[in-house]
Amino acid sequence: MRTVSEVVREVPTGPSLGVLLAFPPVLAGALWLSLRAGRVPGWRWIAELGGGLVLWTLIEYLGHRFLFHLVPRAEWLLRRQQHLAHHQAPNDPAFFVIPLWLSLPIAALVAGILRLLTGAWAPAAAILSGVLAGYLAYELIHYAIHFGRGGGPLLRMWRRHHLYHHYRDDTRCYGFTTSLWDVMFGTARPRRQRRSRPAAGAA
Ligand SMILES: [Zn+2]
Ligand SMILES: [Zn+2]
Repeated sequence: MRTVSEVVREVPTGPSLGVLLAFPPVLAGALWLSLRAGRVPGWRWIAELGGGLVLWTLIEYLGHRFLFHLVPRAEWLLRRQQHLAHHQAPNDPAFFVIPLWLSLPIAALVAGILRLLTGAWAPAAAILSGVLAGYLAYELIHYAIHFGRGGGPLLRMWRRHHLYHHYRDDTRCYGFTTSLWDVMFGTARPRRQRRSRPAAGAA
């Protein structure tokens, strides 16, 4: 019987660099839109960007927990569940980055929802800019965690947290850039294991 990773590999993921080519222009466009109609980069704009960053961490948690860990019955859907292949082959760069066919429509959906909630494009674009900046940071950090070793205390903390999800318990540590939502929703590491390291060979 074929593994999930073999099924998922049937859909070409494209170069991981695609996200670095596609998203910075989208982020630049959102920032430009956020400052139209005479808006200036003042406290309100900064608060909207910050709110977008926090919103990204929630999207990251919910998307990882409730979308990326779904195991669809239909094989055509299973082929597109790249995150399952990432769990089977955590060190394979082909599965590190969320494919553009998924990330771009989700970004468009988030933009539409923010426009509906705020009632205008400028504040929606400012919040979206925070979301997109958080997303880009997530991709770079996730790549660094799996691709390299070492790094500063922050990177090592992120690596311990994420490798716990990979190698100890994939029903915990869904958050990536922050464990805030894991703590709030009861999926954080058990307290007595917080200071322990991932299993030997887990890198
Ligand atoms: Zn990972
Ligand atoms: Zn996962």
